[in-house]
Amino acid sequence: MKLKYSKNLEWLLPYLEVGLGMIPEGKKVTRLQTWQLKQRAGKGVQAAIFTNDYKTYRIYLHSMYHPRGEAKAQRFSKIDILGLLAHELAHTLDLMHSPEHKMLEGKILRTFMIKLKKEGYENEETELAS
Ligand SMILES: [Zn+2]
Repeated sequence: MKLKYSKNLEWLLPYLEVGLGMIPEGKKVTRLQTWQLKQRAGKGVQAAIFTNDYKTYRIYLHSMYHPRGEAKAQRFSKIDILGLLAHELAHTLDLMHSPEHKMLEGKILRTFMIKLKKEGYENEETELAS
């Protein structure tokens, strides 16, 4: 099955590919999509993963959040979004928040951060100021 993805998440595809190499064999992601920001939910629910067959998974991510008391929505940094992706990818191992899930999340996130650093990324503050 081919991957369907949101255009604004195109930069995430190389990370997804790396992450897919770290999840249990036989599991696939068929969709990587941005969620529309509907309400002022603070950082609230930021991402989710869905599956019907425990083989193919759909991942939804917010790219924005609405800070309480502020008029405008703000975008998540690449570090935030990579954290969400690592979290959701680790759910292919276990849909629950178990130690196994957290360990895989940590492993994926560490690999993502090494890649991000190699690409010259400095920090969230610099990114979000641009
Ligand atoms: Zn979770």
